[in-house]
Amino acid sequence: MSYELNVAHLYGDLMNTYGDVGNILALNYYAKQMDVSLNVKVVSLEEDFKSADYDLAFFGGGQDFEQTIVSQDIQTKKAELTKFIESDGPLLAICGGFQLLGHYYIGADGEKLPGIGALDHYTLAQDHNRFIGNIVIKNQETGETYHGFENHQGLTYLGKDERPLGNVVSGKGNNGEDGTEGAIYKNVYCSYFHGPILTRNGDIAKHLLVAALQRKYPDADFSQQAALPIPATF
Ligand code: GLN
Repeated sequence: MSYELNVAHLYGDLMNTYGDVGNILALNYYAKQMDVSLNVKVVSLEEDFKSADYDLAFFGGGQDFEQTIVSQDIQTKKAELTKFIESDGPLLAICGGFQLLGHYYIGADGEKLPGIGALDHYTLAQDHNRFIGNIVIKNQETGETYHGFENHQGLTYLGKDERPLGNVVSGKGNNGEDGTEGAIYKNVYCSYFHGPILTRNGDIAKHLLVAALQRKYPDADFSQQAALPIPATF
């Protein structure tokens, strides 16, 4: 392989609901086609995350119990994760991971868990309800349509400088009322989609990998990688 990317799988042993680890398999699948090898490392509790060590990061979803633990530990990684994000580091965050990148998450039992506030959203609790089911959204900027499965109780409201990953075509999305789903900030992609998201929406895997390659190898030409055809899964 001509290129190499170091990938941090944040809390991969705790934040891994609904097959989110499949996103790593999908990243590997597309990376191979792009002549890129991935070195994936799980970065979990009491382990260092150094912004300079990684080219790409993935943060999956989790149950409220795991989120309680991760919410505490991630405060020790807040400065470096914020540095990674602000320096255009590509990151994919799903569901519970998405929630903890924002200001706070209120769990099903009403407990308020701090996030790291690297992104400007916050997440409230639903009253004895979850959003569960298939979801389809459309990204207005790229025209791409994304398919997934959502299962969350949290209601997320986007903040400053965040654009939605897409507008809800069918399903509930961030909060069931403003028609947004997920978030994009710099090279950070957030979503409530399981499925896992990258196996069903290869375009997002491509955006993440190309962003990581351009950032790590600024003098190389990745137009071929950016033109990689993504098979339609439906
Ligand atoms: N525990 C969170 C919620 O219920 C996140 C769920 C998830 O990651 N699937 O909203």
